[in-house]
Amino acid sequence: MQILQTFFRFNIMEKLRIAIQKSGRLSEKSVSILKEAGISLTNGERKLLSVSGSFPIEVLYLRDDDIPQYVRDKVADIGIVGENVFAEKGNDIEIIERLGFSRCRLSLAVPKQVTYNGPAFFNNRKIATSYPVILKRYLDDKGIKAEIHEISGSVEIAPGIGLADGIFDIVSSGSTLIGNGLQEVEVVMKSEAVIIGRSDLQDGKKSILNDLLFRIRSVLAATNNKYILLNAPNDKLDQIISIIPGMKSPTVMPLAESGWSSVHSVLSESQFWQIINELRAYGAQGILVIPIEKMIV
Ligand code: ATP
Ligand code: MG
Repeated sequence: MQILQTFFRFNIMEKLRIAIQKSGRLSEKSVSILKEAGISLTNGERKLLSVSGSFPIEVLYLRDDDIPQYVRDKVADIGIVGENVFAEKGNDIEIIERLGFSRCRLSLAVPKQVTYNGPAFFNNRKIATSYPVILKRYLDDKGIKAEIHEISGSVEIAPGIGLADGIFDIVSSGSTLIGNGLQEVEVVMKSEAVIIGRSDLQDGKKSILNDLLFRIRSVLAATNNKYILLNAPNDKLDQIISIIPGMKSPTVMPLAESGWSSVHSVLSESQFWQIINELRAYGAQGILVIPIEKMIV
C-alpha cells in the first residue's frame, strides 16, 4: 500500500510544470534555486522546455512578462516572476511563496532640476511607464489625473527626449536614474522574486508542489542563517545564551579548560553583526561562523 501510494504520488505521467525567465535578471537565480533544491535539469537553457531526471518537474523558459498568462491559461502550473510583473499582470492567480532575490522597487522619477512638491505634481502631466496597471492604481488612489504613456523599454530616456514629464519604472541602485538626470520622488511598491500559481491545482500536482516548496524553504532558510560556534566563559554563559536562542536552544559543551564552554547555535543573517558585537562584549572567544547548506524547517 505504502509503495503504491508513493508510486501514485510521483506518478511518472504526472509532472509539475514551472515557467521561469528564459534570459534576464531572474534566470540564473531561478535555475540555481531549483538546483539547490536537488532538481537537476537535463538540457540547457536554450531549449523551450527541459525535464528533470531527479524530480517530477518540467521547466518552461519564457519572457517574464508572459509567465502570468501561461499560468492563468494552465500551460504552466507555477512560475517565478518579479512581484512587479505579478502586480501588473497577475489577476486571477496568486503568490505562493516569496523568494527574497531580485529585490527592487517601482518608483516615480522626475528630471532632477524640477522642484517636486508631492504626488500632486503629476496632475495633468505625462508619465512614461511599462507598468500602466500599477501606476493607474496608484494615481487613482491618490486622486491624481495624469496621462499614462505606455512604452515597453528604455523608459528612463522619455523625459530627456520630451516624451514625458516623469517616469514610473524599476529602480534598484538608482544609478540608471542618476545617469539620465532623474531624481526618484515616490516609491510606489517594493518587489522581490515570487512563485506564482493558481489555487485550483489537482491533488497530484499539489503534492509535488508541496514537496518542491518544502525543499525551497529549506534552501532559503539555509541561505538566511549561519551556524556559529564559540567559546564562552561559564560566568557569562546565561547572557550569551540569551542572545543566541538557536533553532531550539543552543548546544553547550564543557571545554577541556575549566571555566569555559563551547556554544553551538544558528544565527539569522540579518541579526548577524549586531549579535557578534554583543557576544564579543560578553567575552566570547574563538567565534567561528559557518555557512549552512540546507536547513530543514
Ligand atoms: P524579458 O526579456 O524576460 O521580458 P525583462 O527585460 O522584462 O526580461 P529583466 O530586466 O530581466 O526583465 O528583469 C526581470 C525582473 O527582475 C524584473 O521584473 C524585476 O522584478 C527584477 N529586476 C529588474 N531590474 C532589477 C535590478 N536592477 N535589480 C534587481 N532586480 C531587478
Ligand atoms: Mg519582461
